[in-house]
Amino acid sequence: MTRNSYRAADRNKTHQGTPGSVEDLAGHRSTALTQIAADAEKQAAFLELNLWQYPLSSVNLTATFGQYGLWSSYHTGLDFNGDTGDPIYAIANGVVTAASYDGPYGNKTVITLDDGTELWYCHQTSFSVSVGDTVRGGDVIGTVGATGNVTGSHLHVEVRPGGGDPVDPYAAMQQHGLFRD
Ligand SMILES: [Zn+2]
Repeated sequence: MTRNSYRAADRNKTHQGTPGSVEDLAGHRSTALTQIAADAEKQAAFLELNLWQYPLSSVNLTATFGQYGLWSSYHTGLDFNGDTGDPIYAIANGVVTAASYDGPYGNKTVITLDDGTELWYCHQTSFSVSVGDTVRGGDVIGTVGATGNVTGSHLHVEVRPGGGDPVDPYAAMQQHGLFRD
């Protein structure tokens, strides 16, 4: 065997020793990049749609909008069952425009969205945000409680477009991607 053929053999051996590895690596990397791009696209679409998030980690509705019964007129919000101390998450991005005690609503946080819609979170035990704070959907804004006019701990949510009269939060939440299943 000549030196040249040795070299050639070595080269071949080196190449054969790692069959397809370069291609595999490139394949993995391009899959990973595709995945990252897809995730980013999904996130961008999510933000563009202004999708909302559930305010509690476990969703169990106990009273709906427009019901008559315990309330002075009809029920002006949507009640989520929760235990005192459970974290309350911001449903959407916005600015805190109130965080104080408000009679029958108890400890109430109001977050005003970009379009002027107010989201009310009521009967809280504690506040985690103050007026002027900017919050992102999913941020903890306080804890569930039983302050104000209640028979037990829960989160009462109201949706008030333009800060006006309350609309059905369930329908509003459906428009923003919740309760679709
Ligand atoms: Zn309620």
